[in-house]
Amino acid sequence: IIVAKDVEKWYSNNFHVLKGVSLTVNKGEVVVLMGPSGSGKSTFIRTFNGLEPYQKGSIEIDGMHISHNLKNIEMVRREVGMVFQQFNLFPHLTVLKNVTLAPIHLRGMSKAKAEDMSMQLLERVGIAHQANKYPGQLSGGQQQRVAIARALAMQPKVMLFDEPTSALDPEMVREVLDVMRSLARSGMTMVCVTHEVGFAREVADRVIFLADGLLVEDTTPANFFNNPKEERTKKFLSQIL
Ligand code: ATP
Ligand code: MG
Repeated sequence: IIVAKDVEKWYSNNFHVLKGVSLTVNKGEVVVLMGPSGSGKSTFIRTFNGLEPYQKGSIEIDGMHISHNLKNIEMVRREVGMVFQQFNLFPHLTVLKNVTLAPIHLRGMSKAKAEDMSMQLLERVGIAHQANKYPGQLSGGQQQRVAIARALAMQPKVMLFDEPTSALDPEMVREVLDVMRSLARSGMTMVCVTHEVGFAREVADRVIFLADGLLVEDTTPANFFNNPKEERTKKFLSQIL
């Protein structure tokens, strides 16, 4: 469902962030993306929903080509949900409104139908009873679960996660990972940048390791953690395990 081929990106100062990265993700697969800080992880997954233009290579999401200059991006964004480290909720809207906004305005769903669906999603992430609160009245873990519900409200075909738990206090990490785990079990196609080793071992079908803008490993979690091939990977693992 995601086919990225030889994706290259550089900045005007000639800084080459992505040096030709290829990745294919099949429907229903969960891929965890790891790598040192600055290796290009965020940049790479942001190219999948057109948040980041790129210069060379090609990216297709469910058959839709993402052009280098992001021309057809509205259509792509409807199909690709994204959850960030900072939850990016609208502070002046209630939890429920945060979730109903996109389906009403971008998908043309009626208010009643959007609210109905959103309440079900909030139920699914365990926040239904907080639907009328504002984001600032919730804990970080709760806000992140709302952000997941909001992304799901567009009924995306793919969900991207960029370090969704790294801004959270340790006791809230689990509740967010639990939601991600159940989403994975429901068959959602997911690409997750995360350094949560337990999650990667248990939930990921594959672990991808990116270093200096190159894809260094693409293998099973068991292989990645127990049997890394490359020196770069070994060094990285010695720092996080
Ligand atoms: P982290 O683990 O810290 O989130 P990352 O792997 O997600 O790192 P990216 O955020 O993708 O890394 O950044 C890749 C590189 O691109 C970094 O070295 C960063 O400094 C550089 N970079 C990002 N934006 C720009 C920009 N506008 N101009 C120049 N370089 C940039
Ligand atoms: Mg990043």
